[in-house]
Amino acid sequence: MTAIPRDELLSPDDYGFLSLVAKKFGIVNYKLTGGEPLVRKDAHEIVRALNENGLHVTMSTNGYFLKEKSKDLSEAGLERANVSLHSLNLGTFSYLTGTNGKYLEKVIEGINEALSYGIDIKLNFILMNSNKNELKSIVDFASSKGVNLNLIELIPLGTPKNVYEREHFQVKSGFEYLEKVSVKKYIREFQNRPVYVLPNGVEVTVIIGYGNPYLCSKCSRLRLTPEGRIKTCIFVEDKYVDILKEIKNRDEDGVAEGLRKAVLLREPYFKFGGEKNVHQNG
Ligand code: SF4
Repeated sequence: MTAIPRDELLSPDDYGFLSLVAKKFGIVNYKLTGGEPLVRKDAHEIVRALNENGLHVTMSTNGYFLKEKSKDLSEAGLERANVSLHSLNLGTFSYLTGTNGKYLEKVIEGINEALSYGIDIKLNFILMNSNKNELKSIVDFASSKGVNLNLIELIPLGTPKNVYEREHFQVKSGFEYLEKVSVKKYIREFQNRPVYVLPNGVEVTVIIGYGNPYLCSKCSRLRLTPEGRIKTCIFVEDKYVDILKEIKNRDEDGVAEGLRKAVLLREPYFKFGGEKNVHQNG
């Protein structure tokens, strides 16, 4: 893999400029994702640049650097971190992440640290064959921390074929348990996601990201890569709009035109009646 030259990557100021243009189109929610966003030493500066423009900034992270970065991220205005926590069992966690036992400890310390700095936490738990017996323990853990939980089905994208075949497990098999422990269920408008509400108010959101036209029909996301490309869907590689030059040149009209083009290119990836559909909403 070839590294992108540093001056061709978007800088915090670049994100700030882009977000001011995008704000005029009503784009106010930003989530920093990856790879792992916290491997960038200036991740908190990106958060700050977006936050200073009055935008809502969240992040998805594996949690490894969260403990040491929580203070900076909090001061920069990070509202929430979605932290991957696919097992509370040391052996299973190490197996699933290919790491050693210290990693799980560090992630949990990161969660505690972030909470102590006032950063909201949401846990991302991908239900798989290896951890299918942990649904109750992860729900209990989220509940004890007072944090919301995303219960996610494994998707083939980014997962080696043999791992997908070995680990894929249908999330709907957890519905019966969620019905039993929740006091309310509703459908969140964004991506039609089913949400189960526990007695203490903690919410468990179910995300089935593959073959699910319900999700796509209410998806409004655009993705911006660090090289300045706007992608219209995680599964679509060949349709994107390159606005790196326009951002670097502070060309407001050019960036606005790029955003317009990207929105016009967007379409639901899984469509009702389409061949690739395999799921119904929960
Ligand atoms: S349109 Fe693409 S990004 Fe949006 S929910 Fe569907 S698959 Fe996911």
